[in-house]
Amino acid sequence: MNLISTIPPKPEAFATESATPRLPSLAGLDRDGLKAALAAVGVPAKQLNMRAGQLWSWIYARGVTSFDAMSDVAKELRGRLAAAYSLDRPEIVTEQLSVDGTRKWLLRLPKLGHEARPPEIETVYIPESDRGTLCISSQVGCTLTCSFCHTGTQRLVRNLTAQEIVGQILLARDSIGDWPGAAGPGDGGLVPDAERKITNVVLMGMGEPLYNFDNVKAAMAIAADGDGIALSKRRITLSTSGVVPEIGRWGAEAGTMLAISLHAVRDALRDELVPINRKYPIAELMAACRNYPGLSNARRITFEYVMLKDVNDSLADAKALVKLLAGIPAKINLIPFNPWPGSKYECSDWAQIEKFAELVNRAGYASPVRTPRGRDIMAACGQLRSLSLKTTARERAAAAASAPEAEG
Ligand code: SAH
Ligand code: SF4
Repeated sequence: MNLISTIPPKPEAFATESATPRLPSLAGLDRDGLKAALAAVGVPAKQLNMRAGQLWSWIYARGVTSFDAMSDVAKELRGRLAAAYSLDRPEIVTEQLSVDGTRKWLLRLPKLGHEARPPEIETVYIPESDRGTLCISSQVGCTLTCSFCHTGTQRLVRNLTAQEIVGQILLARDSIGDWPGAAGPGDGGLVPDAERKITNVVLMGMGEPLYNFDNVKAAMAIAADGDGIALSKRRITLSTSGVVPEIGRWGAEAGTMLAISLHAVRDALRDELVPINRKYPIAELMAACRNYPGLSNARRITFEYVMLKDVNDSLADAKALVKLLAGIPAKINLIPFNPWPGSKYECSDWAQIEKFAELVNRAGYASPVRTPRGRDIMAACGQLRSLSLKTTARERAAAAASAPEAEG
């Protein structure tokens, strides 16, 4: 493995089970959550909006990790906040850096309810010359079982809270130094757009985001809020395997960009690769795409298509793909299959990918092949699965009983 470094976690990262419980974190809460937290430490009702606005700016525009740094909040209130709350992010178990600059974090989340041990998720940062993309997870594992996806083999599943979803963005900005260096208000403000490292967020990590609709929506509202992280909704992309009934609702209520994991142009094959297709077949999926709110040539749907040797990579498939997408403002993203231990597929030959891409190009879709990134640290698309996870039969039964909607 040509991984260049695994950054050792801070010692306290190992201390979860034994250490005294951490104080609840305010980092990742929405305005109502902040107001409730302020009220609970005795802030009068008429001050709640103003105080929540101050916290918001410190947490989301400046990324502070201690209440002490909040210089426009009275010292006495800072003390009360620090006694009751933290600004903790999800705990880092490992941070790996690829030779190509891709970073992957394995994060440990607090246990909720039935869980026998804290679940783990992965987050990936992919720097490119013109952008930096953060790939975040929406669930621990995935209830769906796409046959080429490593996450789909993970059994323990739960929805992430909105706070855990936002926490991935905060933690990544901490780790790569993506907050303004400024020490206080009025001294320079936000990171100018041109200097931002994380310019785009994609919900393409672990999980099916539309099966965790409300929490993902709340988290993306925080990420897009202009007084804080301020990521434009055009730079946030939700990727779905095709949860048809939720697609239009997501567009209407959240309004981010959309990516569809298409991967096959015939129902018989898509049933096998992306089993949710048995519930919501291609024609229904395409109808939902055509109706996605706000589509235009400047706001296209991305169709992801994983290149699987001798499975879906023929030129007839390419032609059918172009035909299927006719009339939809679309981008096509051909993803070379990223193998993982035990996977039954091979990536298409490069020559075949090129021929496929050329046909798609001729139909008017520009440079559609996605360069695989972070392969050396198993950070590429669809490889995310917390390898440290070992569950007992009892935990699996408990997880299955409480899992979000399972694939039918
Ligand atoms: N559950 C959502 C988002 C997470 S998967 C979805 O399925 O869209 C993000 C993308 O990676 C999807 O397009 C998925 O199909 C693709 N993917 C999964 N496993 C892969 C693999 N081994 N190689 C390449 N792409 C893969
Ligand atoms: Fe789940 Fe997406 Fe993987 Fe399918 S491709 S198993 S929906 S994470």
